[in-house]
Amino acid sequence: MHVWKFGGTSVGKPERMHSIRNLITGDDTRKIVVLSALSGSTNALLAIGESLKANNDDEANRQIDTLKAHYDSFISDLYKTAEGKAAGQQIVDNEFSFIRSLTRIKPFTLKQEKELVAEGELLSTQIFQAYLAEEGVPSTLLPALEFMRIDADNEPEIQYTEQRLAEMLPQHDDKQIIVTQGFICRNPRGEVDNLKRGGSDYTASLIGGAIRAEEIQIWTDIDGMHNNDPRIVKNTFPVRELTFDEAAELAYFGAKILHPSTITPARMFGVPVRLKNTMDPAAPGTLIADRTSDQVFKAVAAKDGITALYIHSTRMLNAYGFLRRIFEIFEKYKTPVDMLATSEVSVSVTIDNTERIQEISEELSTFCNLEEPDYDQTIICIVGNFSADNEGVAVRVFNAMKNIPIRMISYGGTESNLSLLVHSRYKAHALNALNDGLFSL
Ligand code: ASP
Ligand code: MG
Repeated sequence: MHVWKFGGTSVGKPERMHSIRNLITGDDTRKIVVLSALSGSTNALLAIGESLKANNDDEANRQIDTLKAHYDSFISDLYKTAEGKAAGQQIVDNEFSFIRSLTRIKPFTLKQEKELVAEGELLSTQIFQAYLAEEGVPSTLLPALEFMRIDADNEPEIQYTEQRLAEMLPQHDDKQIIVTQGFICRNPRGEVDNLKRGGSDYTASLIGGAIRAEEIQIWTDIDGMHNNDPRIVKNTFPVRELTFDEAAELAYFGAKILHPSTITPARMFGVPVRLKNTMDPAAPGTLIADRTSDQVFKAVAAKDGITALYIHSTRMLNAYGFLRRIFEIFEKYKTPVDMLATSEVSVSVTIDNTERIQEISEELSTFCNLEEPDYDQTIICIVGNFSADNEGVAVRVFNAMKNIPIRMISYGGTESNLSLLVHSRYKAHALNALNDGLFSL
């Protein structure tokens, strides 16, 4: 079985839904099809929520009218038959009367906001499955709220999903296509919740892992993960193959195509992830799997908004437990550290969340000397096959970077990553220089 996920732009127009219907029925593989909300819907629902939080009910009702009009016209173009149109209208009317009912609950809390934002995926999946029914495609809708759950730390409970799907799926053995919602889930209180923005990719990977799918396919509107940022660098190209480690680093360090958590469940169960383009289905896209070709440099990504902290020990040489004390403070303030460089008496780290920087600095100052932090930094992450036996990796990177000041270097943390910290003003220069130095033919 395969799990195929389509993002908001892939379902955002009636004609796009028509083409994904053709895609998913184009071969004999059984599929779980995970859908996002129609493009723009999640933002529109959140905006309605903002109006309700501000007690601006008139504005909220106007926003609901506009969104409903969008769905009314969407379904009138999507379905061909009178029965299809009536079924679609019924779905839209039901969901919008629920949305309307949320405006009458006072006060409007986070619980209601989560129910509201879940409507995007509840609408897209019902509308799409009703369309498959109109077309005579054997399909069913499997409610994600019955098998996706997060724990008290907002972590998905994959074992629960595994167990629930093992119970639910056999009831639909006669169905070729099983449609479900991305993004939404329940929390430990049984309330409607979600996996955070962009979370539909994560849903697809969790399902793919839970059922040990043969393959997870993430369909978007670009032709795979590129070797560099196409907004900044000319002549980028899709990377054909990446390992799970390489893809995880790239997703985390700025390649926008994939939700960063997506790789984890797929890697855990060894399920390959293929990134495909709905606009160009024949293009090979990017395959993420355990092994890949031995190509040395695969891709470069950049993450902005980084702050570097410089920490010097007051206790000097051979002190042990120093790093532990430092990291306990970051842990206490729930601030992840991205990059790290150490010398015998000093440690430099980078963080991207500066909310608690004041408290962190105060506590560090009780046993360390701190330099002024550097703000506006960018991590440039280079991924590839940098196994310890490969010579010449660092020299090629540094040659490419020879005219750009580098503030920190991290190499050897994994065999697939080399990270550099530069001031953000050098980002475009660095990405272009690396493109020329590492990828030009
Ligand atoms: N609809 C949700 C969002 O816009 C989830 C997703 O599209 O992945 O964030
Ligand atoms: Mg997305």
